[in-house]
Amino acid sequence: MLYRKASLFFREKFNAKVYRVAVDAGFTCPNRDGTLARGGCIFCDEEGARASYVNPHIPIREQVLSGIEKLRESYGAEKFIVYFQAYSNTYAPLERLKELYGEGLSASKNIVGISISTRPDLVSNSVLDVLSELQEKYFVMLELGVQSFNYRVLRKSRRFHLPSDSIDAILRAKKRGLHVIAHMIFGLFDELEPEIIDGGRILSLLGVDGIKIHNLYVVKGTDLEKLYERGKIKVYENPEEYAQLVVRFLENIRPDMVIHRLQGFASKRRLRAPLWTSDKHIIPNLVEKIMKEKGTFQGKFYRYRD
Ligand code: SF4
Repeated sequence: MLYRKASLFFREKFNAKVYRVAVDAGFTCPNRDGTLARGGCIFCDEEGARASYVNPHIPIREQVLSGIEKLRESYGAEKFIVYFQAYSNTYAPLERLKELYGEGLSASKNIVGISISTRPDLVSNSVLDVLSELQEKYFVMLELGVQSFNYRVLRKSRRFHLPSDSIDAILRAKKRGLHVIAHMIFGLFDELEPEIIDGGRILSLLGVDGIKIHNLYVVKGTDLEKLYERGKIKVYENPEEYAQLVVRFLENIRPDMVIHRLQGFASKRRLRAPLWTSDKHIIPNLVEKIMKEKGTFQGKFYRYRD
């Protein structure tokens, strides 16, 4: 095994082809509504990382059902995980969260789990307890936008949370047995490669179960685009260079960590740079090729063992 792919993890766990079905429950986020800031994180566009097929103006149940239909037709998906993806999906009163999560989960008998994407500073113990209770019937994943463990990088990215917020959220979620997935962005400002790779070791040591790796990419109309045009930020223009970094990262994390994603994705319509980000397969293919050529595998250089 080169690395632990999420598709195989789900196949082993559910003995079926499992896909996430994304919904937009109409949440906002404290980085947009003025609570922490306005304008959002520097890399976030108005669409708030929403899947292109999602329409936030229709009820959750309908979003789930139409998403399931599309995933069945396109990929032969058999079981589903409701994915509360856009913006911060724990950012509402507790009773409202319970209602929304319940609506998504009850939409189809083929739903086996739920995945909640949010900021590390938006997971109170009460929210975690709600998610923990759902584990009696469902597989529950908590996706945290950690992005970096570097204070300077987080501040320049206008995240307005600290590395310690991420550590705190991960530890409390792990205490409740949730499947924790960290989102990391490679290439934020001038974060050095050893810092990026050490982030993977930190996630490993904290017991994080899975990871979604994104390359920094520039979406049209964002402040990041202005910085890019002025030559103030760089992105991995060469996919090979980024894939090499991903391989070194994989070599340094726990071998059992589930790899849910290796690159970011944006449609050609929205994307400014790097243009290869509109091809979802380019990095998985390159990573596989490089790993085979190097004879390497996930966790090869992970030194911390129980
Ligand atoms: S990335 Fe997340 S936290 Fe940042 S502005 Fe977008 S939705 Fe808000």
